[in-house]
Amino acid sequence: MTLQKKMTVRCPKCGEALDVEVWPSVNAEESPEAAERLRTGDLFLIRCPKCGNESMGNYSVLYTDRPHRRMIQYVAAETPEEENQSVLEYRAARLDMIAKLRETDPESATEFESIPYRIVLTLNDLREKAIIAASGLDDRYVELVKAYMLPAVRDMRPELGVAEIRFFEDEGKKLLVFLNGDGADVGSCDFDQESYDAFADGLVFKADDTDMIGPAWAKDVLATLFEKFSKGKEEKPEGKAE
Ligand SMILES: [Zn+2]
Repeated sequence: MTLQKKMTVRCPKCGEALDVEVWPSVNAEESPEAAERLRTGDLFLIRCPKCGNESMGNYSVLYTDRPHRRMIQYVAAETPEEENQSVLEYRAARLDMIAKLRETDPESATEFESIPYRIVLTLNDLREKAIIAASGLDDRYVELVKAYMLPAVRDMRPELGVAEIRFFEDEGKKLLVFLNGDGADVGSCDFDQESYDAFADGLVFKADDTDMIGPAWAKDVLATLFEKFSKGKEEKPEGKAE
């Protein structure tokens, strides 16, 4: 369900009172236009008509894309402590909702529970995950492609200072965008569909052991994979890797 509220906030630059729309929940099926604006970031943009200042609204948002089977909870917080607390609360609230639903409508509860659920801690992560879902891709394999590519890009183009890679889709074209430490766009390449398919074919996740699927998660998965692979090679030089 899409939820929309009106709020009054102060312009951070000139102090003007601004009426803004906030969207605690966006359902892509119900509100395709709001979903599109969430993916571009426009949904959170606050423009002050008086001084022209632009800022980003920052509040927690649940994004649901049922056709693409994804629920993404963005948790906004002021401090790391508050963030940890809120993450636990959102997780508990979801489980509570599933438990309640199971009492009245077990089928829906099972369906709801089966939709991959993610928690993200930045608006850019929310946007990226929503774009990945809309592209019909699995964010776990996209993160693995990005984690696999990052050291190679750094080696090949050290002068760019690439700090992170983001998935992006522009007019149907899937891209990987390179950002430096300041978040500035310093380059891009076509999405590496071949590596994506290789990960998707070779790696089956039975169930997600975490709802936080990002660069740190992907780095760990890759490290475990490489470890297994090199062990397998040592132990069985002529055998197949498991
Ligand atoms: Zn202003």
